[in-house]
Amino acid sequence: VTDKVTPEERSRMMRAVRRTDTKPEVFVRHALHANGFRFRLHRADLPGKPDIVLPKFRMAIFIHGCFWHGHDCRRGKRPDTRKEFWNKKIDSNMERDRRACTALTEFGWSAVTIWTCELREKTEHLISDLRRRAIKQISSSPGTRHRRRRV
Ligand SMILES: [Zn+2]
Repeated sequence: VTDKVTPEERSRMMRAVRRTDTKPEVFVRHALHANGFRFRLHRADLPGKPDIVLPKFRMAIFIHGCFWHGHDCRRGKRPDTRKEFWNKKIDSNMERDRRACTALTEFGWSAVTIWTCELREKTEHLISDLRRRAIKQISSSPGTRHRRRRV
């Protein structure tokens, strides 16, 4: 059966899978974009390869599925079957997340985790936090306007 799928069809299928997988990430990206914040995706040179990075604010954002990353919520509830398997898998994800956060903080970055169960409210919170920071950045560099006028 698989032989019948052309490379084009396969890549279209893979794209479709990818799209559904990253839906929460797309939600956050749209919110940032709509509010005029510039970001980059999946910076592999940063610890934990954050989903979204705002270089100007030295902020790394992780969008975590509650199940895979062991959130303490209803969606993060661990299965009753194959407990050992799931515990090992989820625990190692959590450990990796912790290490990434620590490493980012040591580099002077702030790490923000958005859980999919609180996607909307966390994203709203993030946007208002960024607005505050943006205002602070402008007001803390009063020379900018003066310099620009002289050029
Ligand atoms: Zn959750």
